[in-house]
Amino acid sequence: MLTMTYEYKLEPTAEQIESIEQTLDICRSVWNFALRQRKDWCASRKSPINACSIQSEYIISADEPFPNYHKQAKQLTQAKKLYPHLKTVHSQVLQQTLRTLDRAWDDMKARGFGLPRFKNKYRMRSFVFPQLGKDPIRDDGIKFPKLGWVKWRQSRPIPFGFQVKQARIVRKASGYFVMLSLQLNVNVSSPMPHGHPRGLDLGFDKFVATSDAEEIKRPRFEITLQRKLKLLQRRLKNKQKGSNNRHKLNQKIARLHQRISDTRKDWHFKLAHHLCDGAGMIFVEDINFVSWQRGMLSKQSADAGFGQFVNILEWVCFRRDVYFAKVNKDGTSQTCPNCGAHTGKKTLDIRFHHCDECGYRTTRDVAASQVLRNRGLNAVGQTVVENVCGLEATGSIGHDTLVGTGRSRKPNSRELGIPSLKVTEHSEVARGRGGCQELMVPID
Ligand SMILES: [Zn+2]
Repeated sequence: MLTMTYEYKLEPTAEQIESIEQTLDICRSVWNFALRQRKDWCASRKSPINACSIQSEYIISADEPFPNYHKQAKQLTQAKKLYPHLKTVHSQVLQQTLRTLDRAWDDMKARGFGLPRFKNKYRMRSFVFPQLGKDPIRDDGIKFPKLGWVKWRQSRPIPFGFQVKQARIVRKASGYFVMLSLQLNVNVSSPMPHGHPRGLDLGFDKFVATSDAEEIKRPRFEITLQRKLKLLQRRLKNKQKGSNNRHKLNQKIARLHQRISDTRKDWHFKLAHHLCDGAGMIFVEDINFVSWQRGMLSKQSADAGFGQFVNILEWVCFRRDVYFAKVNKDGTSQTCPNCGAHTGKKTLDIRFHHCDECGYRTTRDVAASQVLRNRGLNAVGQTVVENVCGLEATGSIGHDTLVGTGRSRKPNSRELGIPSLKVTEHSEVARGRGGCQELMVPID
């Protein structure tokens, strides 16, 4: 099942804006209340009874069950009788807020994430309708429960065969947007494995390394814009709470956040198209992005947006008739892509692969992506023929046909139609002996 998120600008009336803002407000109070309840429950259990001070007294009785999603959702229904303003928001929207909190809470426990945070009005930026009514999309509007028909700018058509699953309304610095989760219900035949195989290794050092020995760095804008963001956030500390200057600075920060995410998304699309060029199959590591983000490089990893990139890549592959598959990543750095020998564990600081068995040399990341490609080919029942003409043959041809040999000249990214992409090639492989075709044969 293929899902895609499309974003559209909304053009709500003044009345609808008021309603959206009110919804955000109420979602925020529900979130904060439910979070406080969970925190209180935990706090009341932390200290043993005999050590209770006045502050941390047992306000919550010892046999009170934990306020989980079901308990909080039930309470919400009851609270609506007391607080009629809660009823102004569609009930599923509020349930969804509790569900999001529940997930954030579980993530914290299971994956070592930080505690969910209380939200001020800048942090509560969106809410979700888990479903829309019947036929919610017209050329001139989208119909949301409680809000009615909201005008939208249909910047691109909803692709044929897709249905709207859920809708998230987002307030951004530049207005209100809707993110529609689209799902392909009809079983469209996805591309068959064919053509040139390409393995991809994602990382921090290089954003992507391909089995064709291309290494693509993270774009510069990431670094410069993040630095700018940090600067603004630091300035926030000097501004008085509630002051006009603080408000202005907050808006500036919000705009920058948006610019970063827009630019990144744009780059992800360009990169995905570039990686599809000349490939018939793409194999990417099946990495648990969430658990990866918890690690020491958590901030960097979240910024890099690997999860979003892989989603976009899958979509672009589908559109371009390139076969896409995820492949197990375990031990990719311990295997030689050329001869399959076990090369022992490489620590992160070892950037090169050198096989004692067959003498194959390349960078660590390229080697990993080549192992991924080989595994992917295995999985689809094809294999790279044992190369018969030289050690550096594997993968070098695809690279040559893609961007030219290292000897002729460096690829011009403008020629590739990717203005903001930096293409670096690893000379050792790119300038390999060449002349060796990779042959694909079915295993049986
Ligand atoms: Zn080897």
